[in-house]
Amino acid sequence: MNDEKIATPGEFLGTSEEYGGGNGTFERNGNVYASITGKVKIDSEERKVEVEPVTSSPPIPETGDEVIGVVENVKDSIALIDIKSLAKEKERELAVSEMGALHVSEVSEDYVEKIKDKFNVGDIVQAKIKVDEPNSIDLSTKGSQLGVISASCSKCLGKLKKEGNKLKCTNCGNVESRKVSSIYEKEL
Ligand SMILES: [Zn+2]
Repeated sequence: MNDEKIATPGEFLGTSEEYGGGNGTFERNGNVYASITGKVKIDSEERKVEVEPVTSSPPIPETGDEVIGVVENVKDSIALIDIKSLAKEKERELAVSEMGALHVSEVSEDYVEKIKDKFNVGDIVQAKIKVDEPNSIDLSTKGSQLGVISASCSKCLGKLKKEGNKLKCTNCGNVESRKVSSIYEKEL
C-alpha cells in the first residue's frame, strides 16, 4: 500500500492488466490514468486502483466555470468531454461526472476546420462552461490557458512535450497537433 502518493489528472497509474480502474481514474489503450487530483489507493487483493478526492462535498459546475475533463469521443464538428472536476478544485471529483460538448466553432479564436486536428481521445482538457442546461453542457476552449493540458502520443502512448504550438512525443518523436493550453503540463 502507498497511501501517501498524490496523483494529478492524466498521471499514469498502471496497466489494466495490473489493476482495474475505479473511481477517479480512466482507462485508455490498456493503461489506467488518474482523472482527478487525489490520493492513490491500491487494493492489491482486488487488483484495483482508485484516486480518492482529498475532501468531500462535491462541487457543482456552473456557467462560466473552468472545468477539467477527458476527451471521450471526437466527431467531425464536436468533441465530447467527460467533465471530472472544476479547474480551481482539481482534487474534488464532481458528484456526477457530466458530458460536455465542444463544438468546432468554440475551439479557438482562429478558424478550425476539423476538431480531430485539435483534440484526441484521452486528452486531458481545461475548458470553460458556456451554456449549462439540464442534460446539455456546451464548452469552449477559446483563450490561451484553455485547451489540452496533458496528452499522450497517439502512436506509442509516450508523453507529449510542448514544442511551440505542437506537441512532440518524448519516446518516438511523433509530432501531433492540438489546441494546446498555455498551462500545458505546468499546473499538473
Ligand atoms: Zn510516441
